[in-house]
Amino acid sequence: MRVNNKVALVTGSSRGIGRAIAMELARQGAHVAINCASRIVEAEEVKQEIEAMGRRAVIVQGNVADPGFVDGMAKEITASLGKVDILVNNAGITRDNLILRMKEEDWDAVMQVNLKGAFLCAKKFSRQMLKARWGRIINISSVVGIIGNPGQANYCAAKAGLLGMTKSLARELGSRNITVNAVAPGFIATEMTAQLSQEKEREMLKQVPANRLGTPEDVASIVSFLASEGAGYINGQVLAVDGGMSM
Ligand code: NAP
Repeated sequence: MRVNNKVALVTGSSRGIGRAIAMELARQGAHVAINCASRIVEAEEVKQEIEAMGRRAVIVQGNVADPGFVDGMAKEITASLGKVDILVNNAGITRDNLILRMKEEDWDAVMQVNLKGAFLCAKKFSRQMLKARWGRIINISSVVGIIGNPGQANYCAAKAGLLGMTKSLARELGSRNITVNAVAPGFIATEMTAQLSQEKEREMLKQVPANRLGTPEDVASIVSFLASEGAGYINGQVLAVDGGMSM
């Protein structure tokens, strides 16, 4: 197993990509802290499935953009599972609109959750990793953080920001046996992409050489590899999981 007995925190793991990552890390031997904003019923299902695999799991519900919540979350996880070895910054939202129609609050909300949330969690949990001299931070960015997308200036800016943060933290923490990498998923079938019109979906699929949407599991297997011992010399990288969309 790739991550036997490690403790992982996956933000936004009640559903979609985060859920698949939490399940795969558990399958690979990790105990998992499940975070969600509000969908506690879905989070409970993830917890039960992880426990059925013989791993420990805890749910910490709250907003990753709230520093008070992140402090409390760290205390709760430490008390129940011990220190966090693997942090996956996955929680994310969209508030899409063309720039002329994009409200300031839509810009702020996306920056808060997608970028500041990752910063707060990295700051909080890297302390434990520094002490342990072992850690993995994996930031879930997006292919559109690399190539851009009309109607998503806020989202693309936040996801591009995550790439800069990834590389900076990789340089800061690398000497302590902590790797920091980003995964840039392409067009993955989740509730987030289910909001898109069929026309937009057809248009986007034309840009994907694989000619299919990705699955949350396509992303999860790469994350579990990056979290493993075997990926210990991969640092500061951005791995696109996009069926060839961004090449
Ligand atoms: P999703 O299905 O919409 O799920 C989002 C998850 O994030 C949920 O668990 C949600 O919790 C949680 N969340 C939202 N706001 C939060 C907050 N403030 N604090 C804590 N948790 C919060 O999204 P997804 O498609 O799985 O995407 C997961 C990540 O991959 C996101 O960062 C997204 O930007 C990125 N991504 C997705 C795609 C794609 O095509 N789907 C492509 C590239 C990148 P609740 O269930 O409680 O609401």
